[in-house]
Amino acid sequence: MSVEKEKKSAKAEQKTEQNEEQLIDPELLEILACPKCKGDIFLDKKRKGLVCNNCRLLYKIEDGIPIMLIDEAIQI
Ligand SMILES: [Zn+2]
Repeated sequence: MSVEKEKKSAKAEQKTEQNEEQLIDPELLEILACPKCKGDIFLDKKRKGLVCNNCRLLYKIEDGIPIMLIDEAIQI
């Protein structure tokens, strides 16, 4: 019984990892630019958002959709 339970939790962990890998569609990331400076943005997996190094802003990703609004961005 307990063995089966362990297997299940291992599977769940794998799924979580995959979700983190695919925070955002890579093709979508390529066409996105910072709304403030129109410069390139980078995926920050740790912060789960997109970072503009010029503006030092973090744009959050919610449910795979980046919130590309200057007002919503977080200063970093
Ligand atoms: Zn910028």
